[in-house]
Amino acid sequence: MYRFETKCIQSGYEPENGQPRTLPIYQSTTYKYDDAAALGKLFDLEADGHMYTRISNPTVAAVEAKIADLEGGVGAMLTSSGQAASFMAVFNICSQGQNFISMNNIYGGTINLFSVTLARMGIEVRYARDDMTDEEMESLFDENTRLVFGETVANPALTVLDIERMADLAHRHGVPLIVDNTFTTPYLCNPFKFGADIVTHSTSKYMDGHANVLGGCIVDGGTFDWEKGGKFPELSEADESYHGVVYTKQFGKAAFITKARVQLMRDFGCTPQPMAAYLLNLGLETMALRVQRHSENALKVAQYLQQQEKVLWVNYPLLEGSKYYDLAVKYLPKGASGVVSFGVKGGREAAMALMNKLRLAQIVVHVADARTCVLHPASTTHRQLTDAQLEASGIGPEFIRFSVGIENVEDIIADLQQALDQI
Ligand SMILES: *Cc1c(COP(=O)(O)O)cnc(C)c1O
Repeated sequence: MYRFETKCIQSGYEPENGQPRTLPIYQSTTYKYDDAAALGKLFDLEADGHMYTRISNPTVAAVEAKIADLEGGVGAMLTSSGQAASFMAVFNICSQGQNFISMNNIYGGTINLFSVTLARMGIEVRYARDDMTDEEMESLFDENTRLVFGETVANPALTVLDIERMADLAHRHGVPLIVDNTFTTPYLCNPFKFGADIVTHSTSKYMDGHANVLGGCIVDGGTFDWEKGGKFPELSEADESYHGVVYTKQFGKAAFITKARVQLMRDFGCTPQPMAAYLLNLGLETMALRVQRHSENALKVAQYLQQQEKVLWVNYPLLEGSKYYDLAVKYLPKGASGVVSFGVKGGREAAMALMNKLRLAQIVVHVADARTCVLHPASTTHRQLTDAQLEASGIGPEFIRFSVGIENVEDIIADLQQALDQI
């Protein structure tokens, strides 16, 4: 068993004698077979192999194997975006008339997916706050509750999920915990070690790491007992849309991820291109190095900001005094990613003035890549909310999301300094 940094480079693809050393791009939609019966076996899921790139592809499969290895899961499926991964992870085990519980401080795009689009499918989301007592959380469950969802470090709230607590709560009710591990990556946290059952990612962030390629991933921890209590018949009973296959019988620990692929990916088709998987793999090779530097730089930037007279508050989970410091020490001992948020005195106007003065840190609708970038949620992603609504969601008009890159941290701090001097 190699260590993490080695797996980032070596896992997923091992060339045989005379084969290309780096992962080849298999730019083909189809695969050729010698005899008709062999293909029948593939369709019956009785043999391994690729039949059509909407379902699987060798380049994509190599990257899936690498991410599964990095997370410590039994299997993974890449998707065309993080949104597709969040959707399919939930929809795999949640149908019309059922409900699930999600933390309320998650990524805004996921909130929209859960609150609006899943509602149109007859699926109800019930939001939990991390300051709720166990009793208050328990009261959200009923017999139709299918799963619990949260983000390890939430975007952009930067709250830290108490994974063990939420896993215990979910398991007491016989349902799995799904964790979006986008901001932390498996370099900083392996949610499976703390009881999570399924992990999702937007690989568009630190995994790719260069703002080059959209993508998502679902990883199956292989630990949840889908047969217990007959609560998940979609996994433990025959799937009529797939020749009566019983996923738990035929695929054991990999039941969840196999169903997601052969049923949902087959039907929704949000498949990544082989080229996208290839680019993602390049990012993964340096992920450990990058995320380590992102985290070191971010802590220094947070400490710098804390000293500044014009700065009202700074939020970074590993900053001493942070509300989430103890959870961060427990779950994120190696660092808390590159994202820092802060507020400047003077509210919305001062925040926007500061951003306009930044030079190295550029204004983009992205986060978590090699280049330092900055976003003002109140005037962009959360634009539709009033100042009062913004305050209620913890994202005030002065809130700035600062994504610290892997440039020299002295340059990043100098940029902030010259901008602060001008407001
Ligand atoms: C960006 C993001 C997503 C959505 O991913 P896309 O790749 O943009 O579709 C989901 N979750 C989190 C935490 C994100 O930051």
